[in-house]
Amino acid sequence: MQTMQWPRPSDEANTELMMTDYPDEDEPAGFAGLALRPELLDALSNLGYEEPTPIQRESIPPLLEGHDLLGQAATGTGKTAAFALPLLNSLTLGTGDAGPGALVLVPTRELAEQVSQAVHRYGRGLGVRVLPVYGGQPIGRPLHALKRGVDVVVGTPGRVLDHLGRGTIDLSGVRTVVLDEADEMLDMGFAEDIEAILDQTPTERQTVLFSATMPPRIDAIARQHLREPVRIQMGRPALPPGELPKVRQSVYFVARTHKAAALGRVLDVEAPTAAIVFCRTREEVDELTEVLNGRGYRAEALHGGLSQDQRDRVMGRLRSGTTELLVATDVAARGLDIEQLTHVVNYNVPSAPEAYVHRIGRVGRAGREGSAITLAEPREQRMLTAIERLTRQPIAIENVPSVSDLRTRRLELTRASIEEKVADDDLDRFRGILARLTEERDLETVALAAIKMLHEASGGDGDDVEIPSVARGNRDKNRDQGRRWDDSRKDDHRGGPVRGRPARAGSARLFLGIGKRNGLRPQDMVGAIAGESGLSARDIGAIQIADRYTLVEVPEPAADMVIAALRRATIRGRKATVRRERPMH
Ligand code: AMP
Repeated sequence: MQTMQWPRPSDEANTELMMTDYPDEDEPAGFAGLALRPELLDALSNLGYEEPTPIQRESIPPLLEGHDLLGQAATGTGKTAAFALPLLNSLTLGTGDAGPGALVLVPTRELAEQVSQAVHRYGRGLGVRVLPVYGGQPIGRPLHALKRGVDVVVGTPGRVLDHLGRGTIDLSGVRTVVLDEADEMLDMGFAEDIEAILDQTPTERQTVLFSATMPPRIDAIARQHLREPVRIQMGRPALPPGELPKVRQSVYFVARTHKAAALGRVLDVEAPTAAIVFCRTREEVDELTEVLNGRGYRAEALHGGLSQDQRDRVMGRLRSGTTELLVATDVAARGLDIEQLTHVVNYNVPSAPEAYVHRIGRVGRAGREGSAITLAEPREQRMLTAIERLTRQPIAIENVPSVSDLRTRRLELTRASIEEKVADDDLDRFRGILARLTEERDLETVALAAIKMLHEASGGDGDDVEIPSVARGNRDKNRDQGRRWDDSRKDDHRGGPVRGRPARAGSARLFLGIGKRNGLRPQDMVGAIAGESGLSARDIGAIQIADRYTLVEVPEPAADMVIAALRRATIRGRKATVRRERPMH
């Protein structure tokens, strides 16, 4: 990755500028080389972060020097820490000022919560006061904190503007403004709000803009509000064919809360001989190892916190087959060459496409078959597309095994173990029992009871429940068709989804018992759905807001998940009825 000045859009030759030198196998690259305050380095070490991600390695130095920055980075790249660490590093703390020194604007309530938790975790040692503000929370709730003083405000544009209008937030002391997921904010109709907010911040501020895509509208904002920004962009040319091993690649889309269960289930069905599961942090490694051991696997943790001696012992157990799963961070796995490896599992989408290639290069060597399995949240779709572009290979989307898949598999295991026993030559000693059992029953019933007993003894049907499937984002598809989300939004004003008319193919229409009379605006609806369910704004179809109710189209596979998420949520401060639209008669 290189840092470069933002090229003009007409500068064709420069548009494929790029990132990123993924560190060599044996080149350790920790956080210590970045000029961060010791409190921040301590926080990172406590969180189990072992090295900066590529976007962090490139963004942090210029941000610490005070440059504006325009970064193209999707969720999953580590972009939050990329802007949060420099912002925290340069905060002036303890001056008693009430107004924030930094403002982060984000598109959704979920992201406001997430980013403010991240800023809090990184800045804990500095005693930083962070406040999330977003639509849906009572407007008065943050007032107390605002009066006492906050250092960082993380908010959605609409709500930040409300506070500015009421005079409850003062941005005159802001030194850094971050626009996070700027393309999503524009898609949600926040352009004017952002302009109005930036107008109320000092002109000499530092401005940072992160966006997953760089459409011309983002360029326009950058030209107007950023000063000679350093530009950081993902996007290496594709690898030449033949540089990738032949590996079966698949991805499972699951919500974060179901990840560990989904992985257990995938492993049950895949039954790897030896697998390495990559996690982001030491904590994640430890937690997942525990979960997998609880599920009956022989899993071992491998991370930078272990001594060389401990690492050697873990490796020895994997090589000898005593252990079947290694749960590791990238740093700990660097330089390992494991002959018998059959599966590489990405518990998260890696922070850079190059990391993915490094990881999966560990299987499928020397003509052997290998599998690469990735668990992804719907939001991480962009990173997967970037990986597919780099490798020029598709990653197949699979469904998490259902309860019935698992049952079939377990019955299959029971059958296989009986088949194995049939070959034993010491079965005769059980003939006496069989004879007594069949005095009054037929042989088949006795055999069935014995199979049942064996099946139950080896875990039986288990008490698994279905893991809800979530939709893969379809923003790229929309882009390819030249259809923009806000075009469909314009349709809404021409009537949108009329009640009773069937929803668009592949979509389901939801009914919400909240409407104009409750002050509901399209951006509230998009914010609530994106924030609560993790769908991308572009996945949400036409919205029609009537006086007392709202109809909204979402991808059919995600419909039940969105309904469940919205039922838990409050929208414009209230709980609304949420269900599928009923056909009209
Ligand atoms: P983000 O792209 O900012 O949403 O970050 C994605 C995830 O990566 C979050 O769960 C972070 O906690 C985690 N993360 C960020 N930076 C690092 C790092 N250097 N090492 C390990 N995990 C990280």
